[in-house]
Amino acid sequence: MNTCAVHLALTLLAFVVPAGSQQSGERRLAGRVSEVRLRSSVRDLVRLGNRMGGTPSGDASAQYVASTFQSYGLNVRITEGPPVPTFMHTRWTLKVVEPRSLRSIAAYEWPAGFSPALPLDTFEIKSMVGLLSGKAAEVNTMILMREMPDADLFERFAEQGTGCVLVADSVNAPSYEDSGLIHSLPGETEDTYLPVFSVSRRFARTVESALERGLVVRVVAGLLTSRGTGRPVTVEGILEGSTDTSIIVCAHGDADSGGPGADDNASGVAGVLELARVISSGIRGNILPPPRYGIRFIVWGAEIESTREYIRAHADSIDRIRLVLNFDEIGTGAERNCLYFEGNDRPINQPVLRIMQDIAEEYVGRPGFWSEATTNPSQGGTDSYVFEPASLRRLGVSDVEIPAITIFTAAWNMPKKIPQTPGWSTRAWKGNPDTVIVDYSRYYHSSRDLPALTTEREPFNMVWAVKAALISLIRIAWTSP
Ligand SMILES: [Zn+2]
Repeated sequence: MNTCAVHLALTLLAFVVPAGSQQSGERRLAGRVSEVRLRSSVRDLVRLGNRMGGTPSGDASAQYVASTFQSYGLNVRITEGPPVPTFMHTRWTLKVVEPRSLRSIAAYEWPAGFSPALPLDTFEIKSMVGLLSGKAAEVNTMILMREMPDADLFERFAEQGTGCVLVADSVNAPSYEDSGLIHSLPGETEDTYLPVFSVSRRFARTVESALERGLVVRVVAGLLTSRGTGRPVTVEGILEGSTDTSIIVCAHGDADSGGPGADDNASGVAGVLELARVISSGIRGNILPPPRYGIRFIVWGAEIESTREYIRAHADSIDRIRLVLNFDEIGTGAERNCLYFEGNDRPINQPVLRIMQDIAEEYVGRPGFWSEATTNPSQGGTDSYVFEPASLRRLGVSDVEIPAITIFTAAWNMPKKIPQTPGWSTRAWKGNPDTVIVDYSRYYHSSRDLPALTTEREPFNMVWAVKAALISLIRIAWTSP
């Protein structure tokens, strides 16, 4: 036996023997998770734009992911989905020019998905009341709303000569004070809708108060954009196992809001890439033996739809997927520093979540690991749910049950207090044992889901999520029968 073989044998031993020696192997690998790489992946991805499936930005993101997988020695499979409606906002602006006192207020504006273009011009902002009580507008009018108008209202606005709509959401207190919730218009329609920008609530309040004082508020605004169709590109990095069973580790590659999407979901993509790097380099460096189950690292071109496509395309072999681990929003948290493992109310998830909960409890509070963690009931709204039995049946796959778990540190735009699934309270959770408070992102689906405000501010979130997934995989893909 040469030294390398001895090393490998010892390593194998470390991974088949539970408890202490296993933990030291896990810790050694977890120590290789790099915060620096996670952060820089997020920045790289956000620089590519909103990464929406079927757009040049989405293609560039897929290329980035594919070449990263390749550099880790993984086999890469690239799949183009069917064409979907797409939009691409090239450039936009929205600046107050009158009154002078408001010139410096930031709108943090972001165009709605599929917004029509707006030729650069000067507009006068009107409130909803101001517009509908008046006759047809004699000037370029921009209307300020507190919620997204419906189709009928859009039509009325157009008849009145409105050029553009600003929306500042009044929903929930914590989010959107300094950023707008990004909306989307229906992708298929052409002319019914007016150009729409989301703006921050602070901007809206300031403008409304100026209008109430009888001031005229003028802005210069414009949007250069195009609509079309394109094929979302899904990228798979494949690590072969010694059996034909596989585990999927995935994240949606698009910023599904159409915004910058640093937390949602460049953080998740960075997590998949980092996990792929640590595992493949661990195998190449003989720190890890090859896994028993293969691992498919997947970055979906378009959230939900690409996952559905994948299942349709792999209907014959999907029963050999042992587990799906999905990263969605692992880069921030507003009120807690907590790592969540979702889906403890589904019996099929429970054996895996028991393993993850054990890991959560073993490592909580250790240097470099999470300060709080919990499993939580299903909340829906992300790719893991496409693997639910009812969804699989709709996609032509019957009698297959796959554990599918989402790992996250924030979800949506406000805290959610939900009853814990009975039997799932954990000592890794610091709150009331019967309740889970699901933390949220202050910048969810907004123009300010930027690295500086999310992933750079709390980079430990991504590190925790990757370490938890890594140790879970070690205990499942390497040692499970
Ligand atoms: Zn997401």
